[in-house]
Amino acid sequence: MTTADKAKIAPGRLLIDGQWVDGSKAFDTFNPATGEVLAQVVEASAAEVDRAVAAARRAFDGKGGTWRKMSASERGRLIWRLADLIAEHIDEIAEFETLDNGKPIFESRNVDMPMVIDVLRYYAGWATKIHGETVNTFDSAFTYTLREPVGVVGLIIPWNFPLLLASWKLGPALACGNTIILKPAEQTPLTTLRLGELAIEAGFPPGVLNIVTGGPETGKAIVRHPGIDKIAFTGSTAVGKEIMRGAADTLKRVTLELGGKSPNIVFADADIDNAVKGAINGIFYGKGEVCNAGSRLFVDSKVHDEFLEKLVGRAKKMAPGDPLDPKTRMGALVSQEQMQTVLGYIEAGKNEGAKLVVGGNRVSVNGAKGFFVEPTIFGNVRNDMKIAQEEIFGPVLATMQFDDVDQVVELANQNPYGLAAAVWTRDLKKAHQVSRQLRAGTVWINTYGLMDAALPFGGYKSSGFGRELGQAALDHYTEIKTVWMNMG
Ligand code: NAD
Repeated sequence: MTTADKAKIAPGRLLIDGQWVDGSKAFDTFNPATGEVLAQVVEASAAEVDRAVAAARRAFDGKGGTWRKMSASERGRLIWRLADLIAEHIDEIAEFETLDNGKPIFESRNVDMPMVIDVLRYYAGWATKIHGETVNTFDSAFTYTLREPVGVVGLIIPWNFPLLLASWKLGPALACGNTIILKPAEQTPLTTLRLGELAIEAGFPPGVLNIVTGGPETGKAIVRHPGIDKIAFTGSTAVGKEIMRGAADTLKRVTLELGGKSPNIVFADADIDNAVKGAINGIFYGKGEVCNAGSRLFVDSKVHDEFLEKLVGRAKKMAPGDPLDPKTRMGALVSQEQMQTVLGYIEAGKNEGAKLVVGGNRVSVNGAKGFFVEPTIFGNVRNDMKIAQEEIFGPVLATMQFDDVDQVVELANQNPYGLAAAVWTRDLKKAHQVSRQLRAGTVWINTYGLMDAALPFGGYKSSGFGRELGQAALDHYTEIKTVWMNMG
């Protein structure tokens, strides 16, 4: 049986208190490469979310309180075991991700899944290294701090890196001793459900990891629920604002990883061929459905024409293909709706007077009704155009020219987002000076898109707040308690 067949017959279920339970309502998910129904999953109701929260609360602070009271070393071992099980099933899980999301299997198998494993192992190591401090105050007092888990945390995940972005939250949340309500995006639930099966196999106690599938209504039930202490959200800026408002009534802690419109700046003294490759990778990796996509390209006017010619030459070679073919580098957009949004932005770019230099169309792959759009590049873009200001979240690049450093820094920062940026130059002093001036959570110099479990990632401005990955993430999954003892 193929993985696609398995996905089709996988009964939609919710993981609550260590058991798979049927839901009251179901919906279809689609394979973006064919437009056909892929699986049926549960649309969890508020009552089902409530049951999941009750299980997570019991696991956290009920009589057993198994998770919080388990030794840190044992918690770390379980997280490591989960990573091992993902590694054992990496081919199957990568295939589920590609079937659900439309991303090339090369990316799911060789990039996303290895990083999922790496992130879980990184945080498995942290479980035994989370500690408070003793602080010298008065001779008559013994004063110290404890670092305690926040409690039950609601993790709400987008569709673009379904299992990877879940791991960014799961790793630190579990290592710090929190229990979890995890909601994957409605378009891409399959790898999260598989993760639930592997968590049971690894031996996680019931109620530590609860999985509720569903769309915005399920998400809202999580955000409203008084039994949840914190929401960690990755998704669009519009929904992030709604979540912040919704979480205010119960004063939940909130961290938000939101959208981006990242500037990629190429100076005339850069290694042009490398910068061309970086610009292609920056916008077309993950079909451009990447929060840190380098979607605004600023090229020094001295090398602009040469650069654009090379860029277009490469883009032309990136025809969309079957996502399950290991040679494919441009997959299908996640949904019909996302494809229409992207095509709408392409129309907007033309109407605003930008010059379409390559791509711009929907294409068919294997004669199927998949959601494929050609790699698309616009020239002559002005920074105030819609295609330069708004997040398109597709394979569409807006290119602009500049004449000097001050001008390009100003243009790069003239955008509501601040997730990432890149600078290409051989002049080290300029590279670091520009990096300091860019309002972005990550700056790459002479590369694009590199990530590591140990390095914090997150946004400035409308790209959100809080940091994921690295030691920084642990702050968001712990509370600090101060203890005073009178020794007088
Ligand atoms: P989205 O905001 O539409 O949905 C994200 C998740 O929120 C889904 O699980 C969805 O069901 C849920 N949701 C939707 N409405 C909700 C509500 N009112 N209350 C609670 N939950 C709700 O985002 P998307 O379209 O799935 O993902 C694309 C967006 O995610 C882009 O803007 C992208 O930039 C952003 N993103 C950011 C990062 C980052 O690290 N900063 C990473 C990946 C994606």
